[in-house]
Amino acid sequence: MTEQERCILEERLHDVQRRIADAARKAGRKPEEIRLVAASKMNSAERVQAAIAAGLTACGENRVQELLEKYEQHAYDGADLQFIGTLQTNKVKYLIGKVSLIQSVSSLKLGQCIAKEAAKAGVRQDILLEVNIGREEAKHGFLREEVEAAAAALGELPALHVRGLMAIPPATADKDKSLCYFNEMYQLFVDISTKKYDNVDMDYLSMGMSADFEDAIACGANIVRVGSGIFGLRPYALTQP
Ligand SMILES: *Cc1c(COP(=O)(O)O)cnc(C)c1O
Repeated sequence: MTEQERCILEERLHDVQRRIADAARKAGRKPEEIRLVAASKMNSAERVQAAIAAGLTACGENRVQELLEKYEQHAYDGADLQFIGTLQTNKVKYLIGKVSLIQSVSSLKLGQCIAKEAAKAGVRQDILLEVNIGREEAKHGFLREEVEAAAAALGELPALHVRGLMAIPPATADKDKSLCYFNEMYQLFVDISTKKYDNVDMDYLSMGMSADFEDAIACGANIVRVGSGIFGLRPYALTQP
C-alpha cells in the first residue's frame, strides 16, 4: 500500500464518519449512538489495518474463508469483528469465538446451528435476524411476518442472544422506495422492542450501505455497513501488497 493510498483511505473513512455524525444530529440523535461497521470484503489485511489505524472500530466480513485468512494475518486486531454475509451451517463453527455479532441469521435452522456451536464452545453468541424486507426470491432472511416468532423461538436457546434486526433492502435508485423499506424495518424493530421475550433485546437495527446510510440513519438505523464508501470500489486483490 502506498502512502497516497493510505491517505485516500483515511480521508474516505473520516468523511463517512463525519456524514454519519451529521445524519445522526439531523435526526435528533447522538453521533455516538450510530455504529459504523466497515464491510471489508475483498480488501487486504493491510488495508483493513490501515483503516483501523485511522480510527475504524468495527469490521464486517461476508465470507468465512476470507475472514479466516485475514484473521490469521491479524487484519482485525484492534477492532471488533462481525459477520454480515450468507452463512452455511457447516461453516458456523469457524466463526464462534472470533466474531462478536453474526448479523445475518436468516433461518431458524441457521440460528439453531449457531446455538449448538456456541454451546459447545461455552459462549453466548450475539445475533441479529436478517429480514427479507423486499420479499425478494433471491434473498435470504425472514419475511416480516415471521420475524417476531423467530426471535421468540431463537431467544429460547440459552447460547444465543438476539440483539436486533438487519436488512439489505432491494437495490433501487428510487429514494422514496428505499425510505419506505427503511421505515418498515424501523416499525418492525419498534414493534418487537415492546414485547418481552427471553434473550431478545432489540438493541441494534442494522441497515444502510454506502449509497444510502444517511437515509437509513434518518429512519432509525444504529448500525450502518459501509464498504466502498470507505475502501473505494471493489475488487481489490486479497494479495495486494
Ligand atoms: C458489501 C456489503 C455492504 C457494503 O456495501 P457498499 O455498497 O460497498 O457500502 C453492506 N452489507 C453487506 C451485507 C455487504 O455484503
